Amino acid sequence: MESIIRDINQWESGHQKIEWVRKNMPLLRQIEEDFSKTRPFEGLRIALSIHLEAKTAYLCKVLAAGGAKMYITGSNPLSTQDDIAAELVKCGLNVYAWYNASQEEYNSHIQKVILSKPNIIIDDGGDLVNLIHDKYPELIDNVIGGCEETTTGIIRLKAMEKNNLLKFPMVAVNDAKCKYLFDNRYGTGQSVWDGINRTTNLIVAGKKVVVSGYGWCGKGVAMRAKGFGADVIITEIDPIKAIEAVMDGFNVLPMEQAARVGDMFITVTGCKSVIRWEHMQYMKDGAILCNAGHFNVEIEVDRLIQNAKNTRKERHNIVGYQINNNNWIYLLAEGRLVNLAAGDGHPAEIMDMSFAIQALSAEYLVKHKGSLSNNVITVPDEIDKMVAKRKLKYWDLNIDVLTEEQVKYLDGWKVD
Ligand code: NAD
Ligand code: SAH
Repeated sequence: MESIIRDINQWESGHQKIEWVRKNMPLLRQIEEDFSKTRPFEGLRIALSIHLEAKTAYLCKVLAAGGAKMYITGSNPLSTQDDIAAELVKCGLNVYAWYNASQEEYNSHIQKVILSKPNIIIDDGGDLVNLIHDKYPELIDNVIGGCEETTTGIIRLKAMEKNNLLKFPMVAVNDAKCKYLFDNRYGTGQSVWDGINRTTNLIVAGKKVVVSGYGWCGKGVAMRAKGFGADVIITEIDPIKAIEAVMDGFNVLPMEQAARVGDMFITVTGCKSVIRWEHMQYMKDGAILCNAGHFNVEIEVDRLIQNAKNTRKERHNIVGYQINNNNWIYLLAEGRLVNLAAGDGHPAEIMDMSFAIQALSAEYLVKHKGSLSNNVITVPDEIDKMVAKRKLKYWDLNIDVLTEEQVKYLDGWKVD
């Protein structure tokens, strides 16, 4: 199956970008070295759907170094970088993706990857897993198992598991501590602001920033907004998360009230219709809306487009919509994940940890072939700890080790 990309001649800048992140991804470099010797994926086909930018490309190269035949697509039509795709194809990997794919093209790229008859699936949000279950059940027998990168994907997998629909084991990479505690919080915290700032080129200090969702991602986005000097407002549906937000020093309001005062809005809930058409009626002229959650349904983009009386492209990745009260509302990156659709996503050092977990979880699946149930599988603690220890080692940081006396004390119930 021949690769489907925009232009192989773009490979050189793709190569440079991958070399840059490689220098900053020491955990993956170590795994690449190990895999080149042990070749855990020799003779196996891996289908991968993750935002196709430099860090993901390096993960693909690491898996290929482990003997895998790679079949790669993106996980969002706006986050694929054509030069990265070109470099991967130049290196002999199979890629089916391009920037700004229509929904039809995006679906056909995903289908190509599934038609490779994969033995392992690496997914980001469940598109590959859904497709093979729904349309190609005859290919499921080839699948040893898969790994899921993000919160929303795991919610979908758990729903499948509950209804006995999951037909192979899926490792919940997102739920490893070395993933969500750093990727979702510090990664999203930094890259969302990188995406917003490079797109708008406006000051954050002094603005009222509304963050919807105070989960791991929302905490990071709010923390960095505060660092920029914004006045941060949180909207939540979970009373406990709302208390956390208050104790962290933020205002908490329902969206109906937050809509009236916010200058910038960032949704990161994994839910739908968090900012609705009716909320937009109350917004200030010039309000900026963007999303960092999995799907482009957190903001009612369709209703905004349908009801706007004027539409204007303002800058790359900013479209202005004039609504019935004459106010303008500015939407970034079509309401898709702003950090990836209007930026390069999380920094290399963060994806180094997330993708080390991915690579080691894929190896774990192969090592335990046939002995895992068709469930959502927790990343083994040894993998999580190993990644954390290696990360500290690369930072040249040491921590204390429990003495024998301390181990005894912590294991017992009597104080001697
Ligand atoms: P999480 O479960 O930790 O947090 C989600 C929060 O949103 C929860 O506190 C929940 O109570 C709240 N929420 C749900 N519905 C809401 C609503 N209608 N209004 C207000 N709050 C609501 O999840 P997370 O790990 O923070 O992930 C959030 C989303 O971001 C998911 O879709 C995930 O896949 C995605 N994600 C994006 C990136 C990125 O790079 N942009 C990175 C990781 C995860
Ligand atoms: N398919 C979804 C993707 C979910 S995005 C969509 O509709 O766009 C959330 C995931 O993106 C996170 O779990 C995070 O690990 C991943 N991510 C963030 N930055 C990234 C980067 N630079 N490269 C690859 N993946 C990244």
